[in-house]
Amino acid sequence: MLRVKVPAGVLTSDQAEAICTLSEQFSNGILHLTCRGSIEFHWLKHEHLEGLFARLAEVGLTTRGACGGAVRGISCSTTFAPGFTVVQGIAQKLNRHFAGNPDFEGLPKKFKVGIEAGYQGSRHLIQDLGFVMTEDAGEQPTFDVWCAGGLGRLPQASFLLAQAVLEDQMIHLIESVVVVYRANTPPPKRLKFLLNTIGEEKFRQLLQEEMTQRPLPEPPVLGEDTPLVPEGSYIEIPIFGGETETSLLRQLAAIARGCAGGYLAVSANQNIAMFAASASETKALKSALTQQNIKTDDPDILPSFRICPGKHECRMGLAPTRDIARSITAAVNKTTRSSSWAISGCLNSCSQPQLADFGIVTKKLKTADDGEKQPLFDLYRRDGNALGKCIGEELSASTLYELIGTLK
Ligand code: SF4
Repeated sequence: MLRVKVPAGVLTSDQAEAICTLSEQFSNGILHLTCRGSIEFHWLKHEHLEGLFARLAEVGLTTRGACGGAVRGISCSTTFAPGFTVVQGIAQKLNRHFAGNPDFEGLPKKFKVGIEAGYQGSRHLIQDLGFVMTEDAGEQPTFDVWCAGGLGRLPQASFLLAQAVLEDQMIHLIESVVVVYRANTPPPKRLKFLLNTIGEEKFRQLLQEEMTQRPLPEPPVLGEDTPLVPEGSYIEIPIFGGETETSLLRQLAAIARGCAGGYLAVSANQNIAMFAASASETKALKSALTQQNIKTDDPDILPSFRICPGKHECRMGLAPTRDIARSITAAVNKTTRSSSWAISGCLNSCSQPQLADFGIVTKKLKTADDGEKQPLFDLYRRDGNALGKCIGEELSASTLYELIGTLK
């Protein structure tokens, strides 16, 4: 598997088409869209990687630091709340600073940075550093900064590190936190481990010392060819489990070039979003989608269901997540159909189940009487602003579907 960093999830039609060509040439013509806005190729062969890296670089994309111990792809407010254009631009600047920057690689484990236009979706809770825009009226936007969140085996919500942080101060702060993290954390632990080990007070002291001695970086800039979507409305095309054939992505890229400014975005729900700056553009976009029989509402797909690749493609996967998700889709009742859902194939929780209204985590395998290994699931429910709480433990698939049918 190779994951392409797509800052803020936004890519141009040219970039989307280049990714499609590479998937057709070197993989199976199917792409996986992640809930952090990245795109994955699966089933690649080692000997093809060099050509693939080179072609991605030609269209301004990279896989460097998209996996492993590095500052990962900068995720963004992919609920497309007002202010998305502002935070998307900042995500692009941060990506230019951190992607492939050797000073911020070789970390004990992944380091996730997210920027949100507001508190919708609560994605700040699960970032190593989550920035939430609070003001966009002055010369620079300001942010609340949340720190040391993460899911995985020990889910932990971030804590509020700072308030009223200006855009110009963000890189200095991120660099300083990364340096403190790297200097004090044993591999393969994340920042949340450091916080739990030394406590918030000591962490703040180390951070203050680093920030005092660390030189201020140059203000970040945007490249001339940086894709920036306009403020306006958007249309989301549902993609079940974020699994799309390149033929569909090609169609969407062509439509985007004609009537959506030449941009597409991978949404937090693993769908494809297309933007329209005016009512007439929205009309043209809807008409182009209809002409090509592309649905914007599919009754066979829950409107918000994040699904990790699970056993289908991930060696960590304990359950065939897409198959289970189909059965869940059939089991939900009218009340919970419009809720947000997520399923992960193991405790790593890549689909962020604790941020969905209802989240399912495959916890372990149990050997049945016939010797077959069956997955057992934990069911989470989110109510309020915190991470979801477990409401059903170690459920078999059939018990899970029954329980889901009764949820209100
Ligand atoms: S949650 Fe587990 S199975 Fe799913 S993609 Fe992540 S590591 Fe793989």
